[in-house]
Amino acid sequence: MNGMIGLKPVSALPETKPDRRAQIRIKGAVQGVGFRPFVYGLAKSFGLSGWVLNDGEGVLIEVQGKNIDDFCNSLTDQAPVLSRIDDINVLSIPSLDGETDFEIRQSDQTDIITDIIPDAATCPACLKEMYDPDNPRYGYPFINCTHCGPRYTITHTLPYDRPQTSMNVFEMCDSCSKEYHNPLDRRFHAQPICCPDCGPQLSMSVDEMAERILDGQILAIKGLGGFHLVCNAHDEDAIQRLRDRKNREAKPFAIMVARTESIKHFAKLNIHEKELLESVERPIVLLEKHGSEMPDNIAPGLNRMGVMLPYTPIHHLLLNALNRNPLVMTSANPGGEPLVISNEEAYERLDGIADAIITHDRDILIRVDDSVLRSDMGQTTFMRRARGFTPKPIFLRDKGPSVLALGAYLKNTICLTRDNQAYLSQHIGDLDNVATIGFLKETVSHLKNILRVDPAMVIHDLHPDFASTHFANELGLPTLSVQHHHAHIASVIAEHQLNNPVIGVALDGFGLGEEGDSWGGELLKVDGLSCERLGHLHQLAQPGGDKAAIQPWRMGASVLHQLGRSDEIETRYQTQDTKTLTLMLDKGLNAPMTSSAGRLFDAACGLLGVCTESKFEGQAPMMLESMVSRIEIMEQGWSIENGQLNFLPLLNAISGLTAEHGANLFHGTLIAGLADWIKQACQEHDIKTAALSGGCFLNQILAQGLTRKLQQGGITPYLNQQAPLSDAGLSLGQAWLGQQKLAAEN
Ligand code: ZN
Ligand code: FE
Repeated sequence: MNGMIGLKPVSALPETKPDRRAQIRIKGAVQGVGFRPFVYGLAKSFGLSGWVLNDGEGVLIEVQGKNIDDFCNSLTDQAPVLSRIDDINVLSIPSLDGETDFEIRQSDQTDIITDIIPDAATCPACLKEMYDPDNPRYGYPFINCTHCGPRYTITHTLPYDRPQTSMNVFEMCDSCSKEYHNPLDRRFHAQPICCPDCGPQLSMSVDEMAERILDGQILAIKGLGGFHLVCNAHDEDAIQRLRDRKNREAKPFAIMVARTESIKHFAKLNIHEKELLESVERPIVLLEKHGSEMPDNIAPGLNRMGVMLPYTPIHHLLLNALNRNPLVMTSANPGGEPLVISNEEAYERLDGIADAIITHDRDILIRVDDSVLRSDMGQTTFMRRARGFTPKPIFLRDKGPSVLALGAYLKNTICLTRDNQAYLSQHIGDLDNVATIGFLKETVSHLKNILRVDPAMVIHDLHPDFASTHFANELGLPTLSVQHHHAHIASVIAEHQLNNPVIGVALDGFGLGEEGDSWGGELLKVDGLSCERLGHLHQLAQPGGDKAAIQPWRMGASVLHQLGRSDEIETRYQTQDTKTLTLMLDKGLNAPMTSSAGRLFDAACGLLGVCTESKFEGQAPMMLESMVSRIEIMEQGWSIENGQLNFLPLLNAISGLTAEHGANLFHGTLIAGLADWIKQACQEHDIKTAALSGGCFLNQILAQGLTRKLQQGGITPYLNQQAPLSDAGLSLGQAWLGQQKLAAEN
């Protein structure tokens, strides 16, 4: 629980005095999570009289008796697992005569659920019931209670009440209704409550699913926030077939295992990683591989693998039927389009990919992918922040009018603020197709609905042609356009509530610069709305434009050309069309200059022959990172001139090395050069705080190495921890800048 702001404990009074009475107001995510039954049980156990109710602001309690202090402490210490207390305020009020009991009061007109909480993994109590042959919900794949189950993905709008969810088509049977209306039941007001008699049903038995999987079939299974494609994680052929059918050559798959204990056979696991895996959010956690128990084609050529634990009753039952045989689980989103969520869509779009499609009759209303994260020295780094985390707010330092930020072009997310809370949406996707742009618009209206805010401003990227920019202009609101890397740094300032100004370093693939040029390795001084470009990575030509981002040899050739070693291009890259490329470089045709750090990584990969063609974004640099055994520094490997950080000497040197040696030298020298660059800027501007952001920092060796080096130099570095480091976190920074703009205007 965080933010116990304004806790004012009532001072204890001697027992001889009459009973005291207090009114307690609790704000946060305290509705629809079993809070009132919890308060009821607690008040009873402390011998207090009074009442509890839900209202428009949260939960309101009045208690009378002698143990009010202990009661208040227990409220926060023992709160239900899915609740989040943002604020608790205790007020002494006059005692009442004649009150003997404690009751849960019927909520009045203002009874609305003020916060929708994320979906949560099946709780231990429900699992126990599901495996108990005497329980009416024995083996029932939709069991849930107020401590677990679907929320965000089945809720259409506020108030959070059964008619506003996709459970509205199921009429509760008598026994469910009894539980639902009993204040002392674990399912009191559990909106998705159901049982085999009255609730949703699967279209195929779990046993048949298990049989088919063991036969090598690929199944499409409807989950919490979308369909998954599923196959046996021990079946190399099935995995290959899935890759072929999904047209996904190399991008890593995640696996689902029944228990954390079985992970040790194929991956390393520290305590923090174990906690993350077992949390109610149940994200995919990237773990370091070891051994050869798992087929290599799950995450080919990489030293990490995504692992998650079961989070719905269907997963538990299926893994149980499979004797805990692990599964490959991947989002069913053909062609990079949004996740499939409806049954009709599944039959249309997954036909030919899956051997069988397993649906059920509880609709998914909101698409949410699995979250992906990693543990970095005990801190969390998000690759994707979605299921389990949306819609949880990120707290900002200042309150302000609501603003809407529309995010980046790639890995788009949006961000909507309410007071001092920033709501970062789930992963939306790349805005290069109509379906994803539609999903963006859908997400905006859904988030506005469930937060019940009307933004006063919309913030978009500087790029005039992005669909998000067009959409921003259609909304009829004041707009603010923000440079990509300025927004990256602002996202770090926002979530860490940093004082301005900071020295920011944004390293990524591409963002449109202020002069219409291509940025991606930027040294910035950010002071709220003002952003000064202090320097950038030495520019390289990007022959073939976007093609250079997937064919690292092009960047390798570009560097050789700039080093005056053009004669080597043809012999080094014999299988490629080097003639056209050399012509582009000679004439400067279709070879825009870029300061992108992503292209610098590609150049290193191209020179070391690490990956001829990236099959997914970032594959080449990820493979290069996987080769690092022990970083080395080349002292003369970089120069800094007029703020420009130039690694040509390093690139010149590694071009003759083995890939592994080159990977070590590249990473070590990159870290040393960046640290040098940042320290100089910090000194010059008398700033001791550095904000680091951008997709390149997903490289763990870079992120950890640079963090340590800066700390040794007396600089405090901050990286994104709550928002993703990549472009998926950009909308948070945009939103924060929108708030600054509105504050400046008033
Ligand atoms: Zn029922
Ligand atoms: Fe970026």
